[in-house]
Amino acid sequence: MEYIGNVFRPPSEAYSLIIQVTVGCAHNTCTFCSMYKDDRFFIRKQEEILGDLREMALPYPGIRRIFLADGDALVVPTNRLLEILHMAYDLYPKLERVTSYATAQDILRKSDEELQSLKEAGLDMVYVGLESGSDEVLREISKDMTQDDYVAAILKAKKAGIKTSVTMILGLGQLEKREDHIQGCIQAINRSQPDYVAFLSLHLSPGAPLYDEVKAGRFYEINDDEKMAEMREFIEQVDSPGTVFRSNHASNPVSIAGTLNRDRETMLAQIDQAVAYSAYRPNYWRNL
Ligand code: SF4
Repeated sequence: MEYIGNVFRPPSEAYSLIIQVTVGCAHNTCTFCSMYKDDRFFIRKQEEILGDLREMALPYPGIRRIFLADGDALVVPTNRLLEILHMAYDLYPKLERVTSYATAQDILRKSDEELQSLKEAGLDMVYVGLESGSDEVLREISKDMTQDDYVAAILKAKKAGIKTSVTMILGLGQLEKREDHIQGCIQAINRSQPDYVAFLSLHLSPGAPLYDEVKAGRFYEINDDEKMAEMREFIEQVDSPGTVFRSNHASNPVSIAGTLNRDRETMLAQIDQAVAYSAYRPNYWRNL
């Protein structure tokens, strides 16, 4: 099996078999993202995808997790996804879950019945990038989504029984819009109550339009103390009991984890201690 172009996965899929069902991202306009900017988007031929599943079942029959790549695999027509899911569970007897990235629009395009059938076929969870709860910031980063779209998508996936893991990005509001950005994130999570939420720090690479904006001095990248202040405000005010919170992504100054709202005070104390001693991960760990 050979991968085409760049392949990315969430940190929690580190031990998953990654099966590329698409190449690139169908959306591919987010200004902070350079992941698939060099890849022309296409859905792979069904026979190739099924062939990858068959090929990897021979050396790795004990696979327990499969992640469907690339950037928004849920854009694939439902009948094709169902065939992929059925074959995966047939070929890998120990398979426990299949997950993928999905945009809010991918989820909203599918009917309740389609999402239900995907859940029944074993699509366990989707990773959705909220990035910001502020409609203004979402517009600026060309996310093509509003907070209302995001909330509707998460509630729709949850109604079908599909778990949801949501990421937000520290620093997208710079300093002027930080309040709108973080308060929007709090509001979006309160309204949607996903299973998991995580913060990433804005980490720009060449190819991302925002990278050029930073180089030109037109976009301010917040520092570690400012990132921690955003994270603190979110944890202090969000109200989403049972949602698992993580900031374990390599881009973050500190790795914090706990269950909302139960572990709020513990997580706030960890943040305060890290800030007091500037006990942040060194830049070379974060590829900065
Ligand atoms: S952030 Fe996600 S949806 Fe946006 S361009 Fe990158 S892969 Fe595509």
